[in-house]
Amino acid sequence: MAKSNTDQCLAHNDQFAKGQAVHKPTYAGKQPIQPSKHVAVVACMDARLDVEDLLGLQTGEAHIIRNAGGVVTEDAIRSLIISHHLLGTNEIILIHHTRCGMLAFTDDLLKAGLEGDLAAESLLQKATGRKFAGCDKSTTSPTTFHAFRGKIEPLDAPRDAHNTERLQWDVRRGMSSIKNHPWLPSSGTDAVSVRGFIYDVDSGKLEEVSYPGPMGTFG
Ligand SMILES: [Zn+2]
Repeated sequence: MAKSNTDQCLAHNDQFAKGQAVHKPTYAGKQPIQPSKHVAVVACMDARLDVEDLLGLQTGEAHIIRNAGGVVTEDAIRSLIISHHLLGTNEIILIHHTRCGMLAFTDDLLKAGLEGDLAAESLLQKATGRKFAGCDKSTTSPTTFHAFRGKIEPLDAPRDAHNTERLQWDVRRGMSSIKNHPWLPSSGTDAVSVRGFIYDVDSGKLEEVSYPGPMGTFG
C-alpha cells in the first residue's frame, strides 16, 4: 500500500523529535485554497504544541483545527465536514498530548467554581496553582467543557499509565464520532481516514492510539 500523507507526517515527527526542523516558516507564495496534502488535523490548543513543526507540515498543506483538548466537538465536526466536502481533505489526524490541562478538572467542578462555589474554587486553585476567581453568575452556555473522563490530577502532572489511558479514551471517542458521522464517509470512493495520536510534550514524539480499543478497563 502506498504511504499516506499521515505516514509522511509521522516520519517528519521522528525528525522533529531528533531536533530537525522540517517545517519552513517562510511565505510560500500564491497557493490553492485546497490543502495540498489533503490532511486535516484536530489538536489541543496547548502552547507547547507547534502542530506544523511536529508534523513537518508546510503552509498550504493542511487544515489545522485547535481547541482545548483537541476534542472532536460539534464545532470540530463542522470544520471537518467543510474541510472534506468543500476543500478535499481525506486524512484526519487527531492529536491529544501528555500533561494536558483537560486532565486536571471535571465539567461539574469548573461549572461550580465559575458559579461561585467556594469548595470548587479552592479545589481548582489547588489543581492549577493560581487563584481561581469565580464569577458568581450562572449560564447554560457552554453546555460542556469536554474535560477528560476519569480521576482528576494536578495540572501538568507527569505522564503515567492512568493519565495516558484517559487521553486514549478521549482520542478513541473522537475517532468514533468521526467514523460514525453520516457526513464523514469512512468507506467508498469519497472515504475519509482518521488516525489518533498522543503527543509526548517531554519527548516531542507522537504515539498512535489503537482503534477500537479499551474505553475504561483501567484497574
Ligand atoms: Zn491540552
